[in-house]
Amino acid sequence: MRLFFSIICLYFSIGNMSAQFACGTASPESHPDIDREKFEIIKKQLSQKSISTDSVGLTIHIINNAVDLTTIRNEITSINNYFSGANLTFFTCGAPRFIDGANDYSPIDGDLLHQQNQVLNTINVYYVNTVNDGAGSNLCGYAFIPGFNLEEVDDRYAIISSLGGCLIGGTTLAHELGHLYGLLHTHERAVGIELVDGSNCSTSGDTFCDTPADPNLGRTGVVEGCTYVAREVDPTGKIYTPNAFNIMSYAPPRCTNMFSLEQLAMVRLIHETEYPNVLTQCNFFPDFEVLTNTSLNQIRSDQQLSVDYIFENLGVQDDFEVPVFIYLSDNPSEQGFIIKKDTISFSAFEGQKMETFDIDLPLNSSSNTYYLTVLIDPDFEFLELEETNNLFTLEFRIDNQALADELIFPNPTSGDFKLFIRDATIANTFVVSIYDTDGRLRKRLEGFKNQDEYFTEIDISEFREGLYIIDVFFIKHDERKTFKIYKTD
Ligand SMILES: [Zn+2]
Repeated sequence: MRLFFSIICLYFSIGNMSAQFACGTASPESHPDIDREKFEIIKKQLSQKSISTDSVGLTIHIINNAVDLTTIRNEITSINNYFSGANLTFFTCGAPRFIDGANDYSPIDGDLLHQQNQVLNTINVYYVNTVNDGAGSNLCGYAFIPGFNLEEVDDRYAIISSLGGCLIGGTTLAHELGHLYGLLHTHERAVGIELVDGSNCSTSGDTFCDTPADPNLGRTGVVEGCTYVAREVDPTGKIYTPNAFNIMSYAPPRCTNMFSLEQLAMVRLIHETEYPNVLTQCNFFPDFEVLTNTSLNQIRSDQQLSVDYIFENLGVQDDFEVPVFIYLSDNPSEQGFIIKKDTISFSAFEGQKMETFDIDLPLNSSSNTYYLTVLIDPDFEFLELEETNNLFTLEFRIDNQALADELIFPNPTSGDFKLFIRDATIANTFVVSIYDTDGRLRKRLEGFKNQDEYFTEIDISEFREGLYIIDVFFIKHDERKTFKIYKTD
């Protein structure tokens, strides 16, 4: 049986200046049955600051790049500030996981997303582009309030929309976590209307006596700035004086920034009683790091690069086969194209290993500055503690100045030779024809020269020993260059 109250948090804009936060749909059907004695003890401990700090592992899932890592860091910093009063510290258990998915999620879609991606014993938070309520309205997110003494853990997740107003001050995440830790809205009415005089505060509204009776601050014109201005009255005729700073209210996200002591005591109580298996550290995840001591200076296009990379498995010990891609780019802000693919095998208890990669540069790389990037786990197959140390970029220069303007080498050759032409005045399609000394055509191929330098490699290993004439004819310029090469056996 699903013992959850679903709480849907709406976000909508009013004009383009201000925004309101609101939560809708199902409310709790009954008063949560908690251990009041323990609640009072925790409340006292929190106010005396005599309670230890516990860590709680979050798994962050980012769907379709809905948010960047800086946003995630800001969100975590914000919630740790709000929840510090409950002596709870949230941390990301492993690096955020980037997932391809839909752009818009209804609660039904969200359940499926969670079933497919959840990491057990952590609180799973999904950042998506937009969330809808299933009936066409945009939401900031939603979470489920656990029924108390809950057996199952499957629905402990929150989904957050990346729509602008939802991420202000991390309050949507804080609000949804509040629900996951048993907090109701400050204006909740399902368990009874809380009176302004506080006479029924522990059995109605949000059941807390240090959150004033709240008529619902998510309605147009009720809050100006961060002040309640509506002068509405409760059933006994007393004017409401709600708190527009409480995170569990519907006040605008720019206003909300605090939980009350009783709310924090509830969070701590639920943490201790309902989340006994939540991970307090996640150092069992591997962390692949890549480094190099090799420094590259100037090389020619025809030279082979030999780079020593140090691959480190900083996490727990297990066998891993991890793909490694090497990219070449002439633009420091782009990774470029893949010039080599390989796999690194880590055996159990093997921390660090050095691998030498011999890399053939594409011959069409002309004199310029280049960036060689090695990336381990390029497709994020592994859940790691940290992803930012998975790549290393080396800058180097290709400089072909040492080569003559026209060159074939090696000469003599037993197999391949390289043809190099540097001439800014000729370009476009050309034909390479190779003749023997009797004038018979032995090989013909076409090339295209679109930059100052042209470099290619030609295989004549099947030729008999002897002298051959290489004729390079630029069709558009009606210009030819002729070389002789000696083929050995
Ligand atoms: Zn809510």
